Order: sequence, then structure tokens, then C-alpha cells
Amino acid sequence: MDTKPFNAFEMAQKQFDGVAEKLGLDTATRELLRNPLREYHFSIPVRMDDGGYLVFKGFRVQHNDARGPCKGGIRFHPHETVDTVRALAMWMTWKCAVVDIPLGGGKGGVICDPHNLSDREQEAICRGWVRQVAWNVGPVQDVPAPDIMTHGQHMLWMLDEFERIRGGRFPGFITGKPVGMGGSLGRTEATGYGVMYTVREAMKELGIDIRKTIGAFQGFGNVSQYAVRLFKEYGGTPISVSCWDQADQTSYTFRRESGIDPDEFVAMTDKFGTIDKDKARKAGYEVLPGDAWIEQEADLLVPAALENQVTAVNAPKIHKRVKLIAEGANGPTAMEADAVIRDRGIFMIPDFLCNAGGVTCSYFEQVQSNMNHYWSREEVLSQLDHKMTAGFKAVSDLARKKNVTMRDAAYMIAISRVAEACRLRGWI
Ligand code: NAD
Repeated sequence: MDTKPFNAFEMAQKQFDGVAEKLGLDTATRELLRNPLREYHFSIPVRMDDGGYLVFKGFRVQHNDARGPCKGGIRFHPHETVDTVRALAMWMTWKCAVVDIPLGGGKGGVICDPHNLSDREQEAICRGWVRQVAWNVGPVQDVPAPDIMTHGQHMLWMLDEFERIRGGRFPGFITGKPVGMGGSLGRTEATGYGVMYTVREAMKELGIDIRKTIGAFQGFGNVSQYAVRLFKEYGGTPISVSCWDQADQTSYTFRRESGIDPDEFVAMTDKFGTIDKDKARKAGYEVLPGDAWIEQEADLLVPAALENQVTAVNAPKIHKRVKLIAEGANGPTAMEADAVIRDRGIFMIPDFLCNAGGVTCSYFEQVQSNMNHYWSREEVLSQLDHKMTAGFKAVSDLARKKNVTMRDAAYMIAISRVAEACRLRGWI
């Protein structure tokens, strides 16, 4: 078996190379698009609460901005690597292009573990991150957003630092801001709802009545929580979620055959997303090993936690009832697993289409912030549904027409659009 550590950027490049070949892209365009345009690597010195100093490593990768300013989140994670950030920046380029919003792709990160940092220390990291790139990001250059372990408060600290340096008020510099401070209504639920809009459309195409379906979800964070909620609203039965347990340093799956209740879980979840096992058992949930989510007898699987969760090892454990996988997370399926899933005829909604609701709503937030005029939640969600549905339909039409997988079709649309923008600008 291959023991080489998983490298998300190698996977993103391999996926790109395969599609570039299918599209017959010329060598120079391939070279331009398979690498980031720009990268910033820097150190962030922080005075810690104990009076000592620690130096954190930070990144910003701008993969491509031919279609508009770069857009992408900033992750705080102890195991962050620049290759993961590169891959995610590239996926952002394709994600913006596939749902046809006028933005490019970027991503940032800091190697740190917020679990072990006070609010003041996190604020210092946020401000330090902005100080390093304040002249390379901004509303017309590169617009950051929250991602794993970052949220609205981090964005406001970053915005405040940016505005101090650049002199003025630039709410369109960053998205994921709290509502009332330049944030958009609907942003919290946008990614999870977007996942479910595409699931709804896929089920229509597959002739499946969503009200008769069972779903198993991995993760119980921002994406999963709202995907579960809308799935329930559509009449589906979510039976399990899984989450990371910080104290035990492992993950668990929480399952209840009669259906799970997201509100119940929220009440038993701490601020890092760890669900209390004792309370869950008392509420009638089985507590299973973390990877049990993939073996559930369900129609729908939604990996919405981390990358590389569906692998050649666990893909064969996917239950025969499963008809649809909706990739809520970025890069949750390893390439070898993709082949297993394709061969079994399971319909796959690829990550950068499936979870594009977040960036689409971020784009709406940016538009509203730049106008300094804010829309109602209904307006935001109806525009989001429209964009996601149109994106899904374009991809599934092409997949059928060219007899390719949904992932390949999504790549073909996105890469063609970005290559065309580079060509029209006279870059290549
Ligand atoms: P989050 O931090 O809110 O939630 C992550 C969830 O995954 C938590 O419930 C955590 O307990 C769980 N988890 C972590 N490790 C796990 C493991 N090994 N096994 C099982 N569960 C585990 O993050 P999120 O915002 O929901 O993002 C999830 C994924 O979706 C990431 O891949 C992220 O890049 C992607 N994504 C997020 C957004 C967004 O708007 N939030 C948009 C697009 C893509």
C-alpha cells in the first residue's frame, strides 16, 4: 500500500492535469493554472499571556485572479501546511468559476491551535497576519473569510487592523463579519444550505423523493449543522453526525435511528464543537467510533468535516443503499476512493460545486459591504438558491452530454472559464 503522506496540493494538481488534458489546454496555460500566481509566507511574533513570545507561521496563497479579486478563508490549525493552503486556494478559483461569480481563488492559514490560545493571543495573531499582507489584500485584490477554527470575531479584528493601516473604512475587505458590522444575513447557514440545494436538485434528477431518504453526516460544524437542518426541513431523516472530541483526541459518530435533532446537539456541544457523549447517550443516541458515519445504511452521505476522509480503505465500507454523496468539506474524497465510488454508480456532487454556497454568500456580503446597503435574509437565500441551482444544472447537463463524472464536468466548466479569462486579459 502507498505510505506516502497525503498531499492535498498534489491531488489538486493531478485533478487539474486530468481535466486540462481532456480540454486540450496548451502547455503555458496548464503551467499558469496548475500553480498559484502569488504566495506570501511570513512569521507572526506574538507576546503571549505569560509574558513570553511565540512566533507563528502564516500564509496567504493567491492562486488566480483573472476573473476578479481572490477570495478564500483563513484557517487556524495546528497541522496546517502550505500545500494544503495551495490546494484550497486552487479549489477556490474553480469554486468561484463553477458558480459563475466574478472572483478568483485564494486561501490563508496560520499554524496554531486556538484551543490553547486566549482571545487576546488570537487577536494578536489576527492583527499580526494582516500587518504582513495589508498591501497585498483588500476589496479589489484579495478578500479573506473565516474557515476552520476562525469566525466573525477574528474577521473583525482583521478588518480593524486593515482599516488602521490603510486609513478608512473598507467593509468589503473581508467577509464572514457579524451581522450589524457589515455581515450578511444568511451567511451562517449559506454553505450548509447550499449543500442541500444541490442535494435537492440531484435527487430530483435521480428521481428520488427526498422525504423518503436517510442521511449520514460527518462533522457537526458550520457546514454540517445547516445541511442537516435544511435536509430535515425538506423532509429527509438525518440519522448520524460525527465530531472531533478534543479531550479524547479522537472522533465519534452519534447515531439515532429515529432521526437526530440538531438543536439537541447544539445544546450539548461546547465552543469547539465537541458533543458531550454522556448527554448524548441520555438523549438516546448511540456513540460509535468516528469513522462509523461512512458505514451507515443511508441514501445520502455528507462528508462535511475535513479533507481526505473517504479513502481507498474505507470507501468499500459504504453501504449499498447509498445513492448520493454530497461533498460538504473541501477535498474529502481521495482520488482512489473516487474511482470506487464511480464504479459503484453512486452520484457524487463534487466539493467545489457542493460547498460553493459559502463563497457565493461571501460574494453577496462583499457586494452589500461595498454598496453599504444590506439585503433581507430572504433575498440572500433566494439569490443563493438561484446561483447554486444554476451551477448544479450546468454541471449535470455537461456531465450527461460528455458522459463524464460530475467532478470532471465541474472542473471542465470552471477551468475553461478561468483559462478564457486569462486569454481575454492577454496573459497567455
Ligand atoms: P467547523 O470547524 O465548523 O466544523 C468542523 C466539524 O468537523 C466539527 O464538528 C468537528 O468536530 C468535526 N471534525 C473535525 N475532525 C473530525 C474528524 N476527524 N472526524 C469527524 N469529525 C471531525 O468547520 P466547517 O466550517 O463546518 O468546515 C467543514 C469543512 O467544510 C472544511 O473542509 C471546510 O474547509 C469546508 N468548507 C467550509 C465552508 C464554510 O463556509 N464554513 C465553506 C466551504 C467549505
